[in-house]
Amino acid sequence: MVVVSPKLSRRDFLKLAAVTGTAVAVAATISKEQFIFGKVFKEGAKLEAATGDVVAFTTCYGCLGRCNLQVVISPNKLPRYIAGSIYTRNEGGLCAIGASAMLHYLSPARLRSPLLRVPTSERCKGDFIEITYNDMLDILVNGDNAALLKERGWTYGFKGMKEINQCCPERFAYFTGRDQYNPAENTWFAAMFGSPNQGGHGGFCATNVASGGSYVLGGTWWEYGAWDSRYTKLLILSGVTQDHFPTIIRREITKVKERGGEIIYMSPERIGNFGQVADEWLPVIPGTDGAVVWSIIQLLLTAWKNGVKAIDEEYLKWYTNAPWLV
Ligand code: SF4
Repeated sequence: MVVVSPKLSRRDFLKLAAVTGTAVAVAATISKEQFIFGKVFKEGAKLEAATGDVVAFTTCYGCLGRCNLQVVISPNKLPRYIAGSIYTRNEGGLCAIGASAMLHYLSPARLRSPLLRVPTSERCKGDFIEITYNDMLDILVNGDNAALLKERGWTYGFKGMKEINQCCPERFAYFTGRDQYNPAENTWFAAMFGSPNQGGHGGFCATNVASGGSYVLGGTWWEYGAWDSRYTKLLILSGVTQDHFPTIIRREITKVKERGGEIIYMSPERIGNFGQVADEWLPVIPGTDGAVVWSIIQLLLTAWKNGVKAIDEEYLKWYTNAPWLV
């Protein structure tokens, strides 16, 4: 087994990343299925038995696909990717980003400890010092009264969470980045603190996608929804962002196309992944795709085929929220 020293120069890191990416690409082109389902699992089992390594399941956060993957975890070494998990939606497939994700631990540019901006420096000047996590938490709770700041005579005009909680909790605004379920965490955390000011990316769009996906696909997001791609004859991609094109979707779209299905891409632009796989492009003016979709729905609701309604009204009535929407 190759042991990689965590102390790498930037040049070595780039070389290592390039070699890993190339190895993944070569493995993918030779015999990907055999590679994933056969050899790697056997090798993984051998590793586990021989060295006490643990093979664990985890999730790639390289993009919204959240592909499941297996890694080897061993004492005093970096976790190492071995294969995509065959048990989930990505069916064993990963892209080169997922396969090399663990290498970010070797990046010379990664953050190793909290950084504190020197108070006399201008913002964006990059004048930071490294501090410990204990000092960071002390500053967060006690603001300018934190031990490190008092010792250095530094002030930021920050009261600290303790004082804000006592005097004016509504002045605390809690906003977080992108993740699916943080609206629940945000609401709970901010409410416990006493502030109504909370939100996050997930609260603005991802939650709507999740509930919509559950209604029409049976699962949150089309990446995870187990939609019937094997039987889809016409797929209309509307209102999708380019980052929703992970391994899982590439596989699902391949299934649609392999069975002769057609893909229509509705978007102002034709660049990127979806534009490349689509059979037809509907160039809508930004903000009008909703109106186009409603027009299609209206046509579907009124269309007849061989003397019967073209859509399954009973299904819509009993298994979707269409009666409230239409
Ligand atoms: S498609 Fe690639 S980057 Fe995205 S989750 Fe899967 S392995 Fe990670």
